[in-house]
Amino acid sequence: MDNQYIYEGASGPWELVVGLEVHAQVISSAKLFSGAATTFGAEPNTQVSFVDAAMPGMLPVINKFCVEQAIKTGFGINAEINLVSIFDRKNYFYADLPAGYQISQYTRPIVGKGYLDIELEDGSVRRIGITRLHLEQDAGKSIHDQHPEKSYIDLNRSGVALMEIVSEPDLRSAEEAAAFVRKLRSIVRCLGTCDGNMDQGSMRIDVNISVRKAGEPFGTRAEIKNVNSIKFLTQAIHYEAERQIVILEEGGEILQETRLFDSARGTTRPMRSKEHAHDYRYFPDPDLPPLILDKAWVEELRKNLPELPDAKKSRFMQDYELSAYDASVLVAEMETASYFEEALKFLKPLNPKAAKLLANWLIGEVFGALNREDKTIEACPVTPPHLSGLINQIQEGIISGKIAKEVFSLMWESEKDAKTLIEEHGLKQVSDDSAILAVIDRVLSKNVTMVQEYKSGKDKLFGFFVGQVMKDMAGKANPELVNKLLKEKLG
Ligand code: ADP
Ligand code: MG
Repeated sequence: MDNQYIYEGASGPWELVVGLEVHAQVISSAKLFSGAATTFGAEPNTQVSFVDAAMPGMLPVINKFCVEQAIKTGFGINAEINLVSIFDRKNYFYADLPAGYQISQYTRPIVGKGYLDIELEDGSVRRIGITRLHLEQDAGKSIHDQHPEKSYIDLNRSGVALMEIVSEPDLRSAEEAAAFVRKLRSIVRCLGTCDGNMDQGSMRIDVNISVRKAGEPFGTRAEIKNVNSIKFLTQAIHYEAERQIVILEEGGEILQETRLFDSARGTTRPMRSKEHAHDYRYFPDPDLPPLILDKAWVEELRKNLPELPDAKKSRFMQDYELSAYDASVLVAEMETASYFEEALKFLKPLNPKAAKLLANWLIGEVFGALNREDKTIEACPVTPPHLSGLINQIQEGIISGKIAKEVFSLMWESEKDAKTLIEEHGLKQVSDDSAILAVIDRVLSKNVTMVQEYKSGKDKLFGFFVGQVMKDMAGKANPELVNKLLKEKLG
């Protein structure tokens, strides 16, 4: 087993076990059982129907579009779709839950077992099991910081559709948990079923963590609620693993409890002891009949799925001979993949590695510059046709790769295309034999002793001559030509 999976305690190594419950808000203009709007950031209580406020006599009606979104997500996580599922009431009392229960799916969720393949930094792939995906309503929000004595309730979120996606306890490190969330996020974004914006709460994660000695059965877990960024997810896992190991090594016991992550301190603290399913008194909602899906409709949805990140990755590897790593970087965000594919349309297929060259430039130069300026790819000043234009200039031998970096900086600043800038700044590579030969003659006659040494066997000096010629020509000589002509001259 790889070292990164092992936590070293005083008694030796411990293995980490993590399972995630991801709450993903469904992209839908209306709520799961009402027609109220779901726009983020609206004035409190402006998007609340009588159903969402649990007025007496109001009846829920399922929103077909939300069902469609859950099914598409189910396909995205390679899962079986259950043609019959049931909505249950999950009963608990809370101020922001006006009905006194949340409509959820307990015994028969809409989506059953599936899996996700996650890519790790060392290039390996691990398959992580998914237990289920079910549909449920979100609760409202209590606001405690607006008045010294009172709390306010905002019901805008009440009734918004959520997909809860539950993983098997298959994750073995914080890195894997982070990769799982990133992968899931790229899939739902690609499908358009959840925007994945963790900072707006559209994706929230409950993290279940336990530790054990290798080969032992699973230990007791703690559940950390509502983690809302990948950075916090990683911090919470590290903190919790160490907390549990210290307790166990001192002969203590882990309590099965729900904990909260304190992002300011990077620690977790107890919230409540673990509730059990029977505490919720689940029962089928008498207002909602079983959800029965039409097989042909489900099949139709499957057929119309967009190309998912994994399929795109394989296609990139096959069609453009990209490495698994490059391909996975390009498909991780849809916008990056679109940029790449848009640029390909302008790339001249002058050599078999043209697409690979484009990928290198995108991952290296473009990502580097975007990171430095904290920009997203949509705001990239170098457009896809401009990037390919630059690479075409390299392919055609008009500029060297080195000069191209200079041209790229100019493109970034000016938003002009490569050809124009090469003209304006006189950066064209010299590919004219006689011009290069003239410089070669000058360099050789200035370094007579070195030429002697070279001819008596000091081969290493060849690089020095190339360097001198390039320097004399301000880097603009065609490097291949310089090599060739120098060889002829010295040979
Ligand atoms: P509940 O619904 O009570 O939270 P589940 O059995 O459905 O409990 O499990 C919830 C999550 O906890 C799942 O993601 C699962 O993978 C994870 N899990 C279960 N057992 C363990 C364990 N021993 N250590 C870490 N995670 C676990
Ligand atoms: Mg749970």
